[in-house]
Amino acid sequence: MNYHGKQLQVKRVLNALGIRISQATSSEYYAHCPFHTDTNPSFAVNKKTGLWMCHKGCGAGNITQLWHLMTGDNMMASVRQLLQLASAYSQTEMLKLLNTQAFQPTTKYRQVVLENYDPAYIHPYWTETRGFDEPFSREWDVGYDKMRRAVVIPVRDPWGMVVGATRRLIHPLEGENKYHHDHGTPRNSILFGLHRAGNSRVLILTEGPTSCLRLHQYGFDNAVAVFGSSISAVQIRMVLQRAHTVTLFFDNDEAGAIATDKIATQLQDKMAVFIAKYPPDSTGCDPADLSVSQVRYALTNAMWYSLWLMQQCEVNSASN
Ligand SMILES: [Zn+2]
Repeated sequence: MNYHGKQLQVKRVLNALGIRISQATSSEYYAHCPFHTDTNPSFAVNKKTGLWMCHKGCGAGNITQLWHLMTGDNMMASVRQLLQLASAYSQTEMLKLLNTQAFQPTTKYRQVVLENYDPAYIHPYWTETRGFDEPFSREWDVGYDKMRRAVVIPVRDPWGMVVGATRRLIHPLEGENKYHHDHGTPRNSILFGLHRAGNSRVLILTEGPTSCLRLHQYGFDNAVAVFGSSISAVQIRMVLQRAHTVTLFFDNDEAGAIATDKIATQLQDKMAVFIAKYPPDSTGCDPADLSVSQVRYALTNAMWYSLWLMQQCEVNSASN
């Protein structure tokens, strides 16, 4: 069965719980009911869905509830245990994935020459206020737009060709978007930073280029970014071609949580999806606001999407 995006064998769960299968039909396992003294196997478990019931009336439920009832673990711990029993991919599936990793984008990209872009000047806002050091910024060709007074971050295709730019206004007007993307930048068919993302099968996905750059600056060179709060079908394909695991590291605000949930839903049946866990007292922050130790904390404590989702529900119900 598909258990929170992972493959979980119902048989394996019954085994782990010490429930012996006495009979099996094409769709169900039968066992002696663990909840009453059962002389005839009256405990039925669906092979595909893990849904169970006792024909003598002890109850019925799903696989998580069964684990919870039999072990006494709470629901959250039960999910965690079951996820450990499951594996993201079988060995054959994994081999198949690794063999089809070669990157074959279907999109044709067009090289552009950036206007109003001075690659020789990096504004102190970027280096001093935001703390991106100069050698690092040079590696990414961060420059300056004198006309709009903006930091220019070139956007490159998967091979490193410049195909557009993101501009961070240094003094946005009230209510104005801080980030502007050059007209024609293929925001829906590019993952920012992919050309430098190395060969890792694990990607970190952020909400924008600045967050992505911060992670690279801290040495996480498997970070890439979308341009905002959604992911396109082309971008999903690009993620899948490169990675078997993705950690979503979006902004720590309501919009970020909504985007995380939306994107995780789109990816979870295709790959292992983790969500970065922000450190305490970082509400409203994005990855670019964090120190290296905070980023490390967020990534080492990243949790399964399904667990994150349960925690979100708990947080929401606590605040209501
Ligand atoms: Zn029973």
